[in-house]
Amino acid sequence: MANGNLRNMKFEDIAQKPNISKAMLKRISRYFIPYWKQTVLVLVILLLTSLLGLLPPILIQHIVDGALPSKDLRLLVTLVVASLGATVVAGLLGVLQTYLNSFISQNIVYDMKNQMYRHLQRMPLQFFSNVKQGEVITRMTSDISGIQGVFNSTVVNFANNSFILVSTFVTLLIMNWKLAILAIVIVPLFIVPTRKMGKIRWKLAKQTQEKMSDQNHIIQETLSLSGYMLMKLFTKEEKEFSSFRSINSESKRLQIRESMAGRWFMMLLTTFTSIGPMLIYLYGGYLYIQGDITVGGIISFVALLSRIYGPFGQMTNLYVDINRSIALFERIFEYFDMEPNIVDRPNAIPMNPAKPDIAFHEVGFAYQQDKQALRNITFTAKLGTMTALVGPSGAGKTTITNLIPRLYETDTGSIRIGGTDIRDMTLESLRSQIGLVTQDSYLFNGTIKDNLLYANSEATYEEMTEACKAAYIHDFIMEFPEGYDTVVGNRGIKLSGGEKQRISIARVLLKDPAIIIMDEATSSLDTVSEYYIQRAMDLLLRNKTSIVIAHRLSTIMAADNILVVQDGTIVEEGKHEQLLLNNGVYKDLHSKQFDRSRNDSERLLEA
Ligand code: ADP
Repeated sequence: MANGNLRNMKFEDIAQKPNISKAMLKRISRYFIPYWKQTVLVLVILLLTSLLGLLPPILIQHIVDGALPSKDLRLLVTLVVASLGATVVAGLLGVLQTYLNSFISQNIVYDMKNQMYRHLQRMPLQFFSNVKQGEVITRMTSDISGIQGVFNSTVVNFANNSFILVSTFVTLLIMNWKLAILAIVIVPLFIVPTRKMGKIRWKLAKQTQEKMSDQNHIIQETLSLSGYMLMKLFTKEEKEFSSFRSINSESKRLQIRESMAGRWFMMLLTTFTSIGPMLIYLYGGYLYIQGDITVGGIISFVALLSRIYGPFGQMTNLYVDINRSIALFERIFEYFDMEPNIVDRPNAIPMNPAKPDIAFHEVGFAYQQDKQALRNITFTAKLGTMTALVGPSGAGKTTITNLIPRLYETDTGSIRIGGTDIRDMTLESLRSQIGLVTQDSYLFNGTIKDNLLYANSEATYEEMTEACKAAYIHDFIMEFPEGYDTVVGNRGIKLSGGEKQRISIARVLLKDPAIIIMDEATSSLDTVSEYYIQRAMDLLLRNKTSIVIAHRLSTIMAADNILVVQDGTIVEEGKHEQLLLNNGVYKDLHSKQFDRSRNDSERLLEA
């Protein structure tokens, strides 16, 4: 079935009743509007096929009552050919309808996927740090793809079955109204037990699934490495086995009941579908004896009857399918409803790259409501100077730097660049003037060249090699047989942290932004790497306003201003010598953290 995706949804997904509101339906139908012509065509085809489907049973009557008694071979052949023709034409229309169905569904999936991708691109960093791993992919792929079955299982299902029911019933009425009423009266006989059985099976299946999950839980808890140890050390084997056995037995019982329910269901179905025709033969036979109907009439009636029961059965499932479809749309809309909160203001102006001095004024920020990550941050990073952020891990240094390109938005206070609040600037101009070198610089799967040119696709080969020479990585790249065309990332060569950081520095040099934000690698690099990174940084930061999360003493000593961050706030500020004299947090940090690196840098100086 085309709506296999709907059927595969888990119980949890549809456990809570979705709200079928007018607004919701309106919102869903908006996706169908661009394809209204195709939808109308599908409806016309469904109407035609439902009418064509009436022909063969009606023609049977003429065969039995006309062609056979009068031994008219020509009429017989004509009627059979006509009946066959109707079936073939209906079949061909069915093919066209399937094409239109998938055209409409796939186009809706296509539109939604594009809309979702665009929407997610605009979501703030916060969203991606909060969302469960794999969740974005699930929404993008299986949830949206599930939509492709919706059109078929709802609109087509409903229209098709209504057309068939109405056209068949009208035909039955015209043929013989007494029999027609009998045929309808016995419908509940068939519908009620099937529905009831369906509900029982659904409930049993749900219970079985719950038991299975309990069982898995016990297995996981007691037969995993640490669980096993716990069970052994507290000698709980007997207790655990007894709970396992009881759940196991419960799930066995349920599964037997479930298969029996299935069998009862089949039995009821066959009984009731044969009760209908039998009653028609009985009452029809009586009418025949009375002279009210012909033999052909009875046969044709029974043949038409099968066109009533099938659609009735399917219509009763429609409600479930609609609920499942709405649940899918709800999950998708839930994402669409999350507004990206970091966007351009209506009158946003471009940033002026000529005045990139940065001023924080009483900035406060919290990732979660009750936990303040930054409090009262006030400092100025003057034009063309280097500001170093130092402090223990978790103090808030990265958070401070992430606020500048507005990866996160300040809660209180303001950040100004060149005197203008960054919230009044266009995001694009702001971010294009900021170069970020992170600790674990991200290189995507692709060639080194692709990674470098991501910063500036118009850079020439000379500019690219210049940047790499300045970042002390050119010679290293040229050692590979394929040079700049060497593939990096998990499908290519692996680079060390220091090499990646130097490529990342070259990338920022190519971008040539007014502001540089750098997070020095904490992991100890080998001395040679350190030396080259130091030289590359000197060039990168020259004449730029820069903010560096510093982990090395040499960087700190070169800084024009040092901010000591602790518990989300600035506790000391000044130059290295000054801060040492203060005898405060910095002095402490210095003696704990930098003794080793001082030794290293002294070694380097000697080298
Ligand atoms: P630092 O860079 O000084 O090591 P951070 O700025 O990374 O410190 O972190 C400051 C505080 O904010 C820490 O308590 C950290 O746990 C918290 N934090 C950092 N990132 C997030 C996040 N995405 N969501 C929630 N809390 C975060």
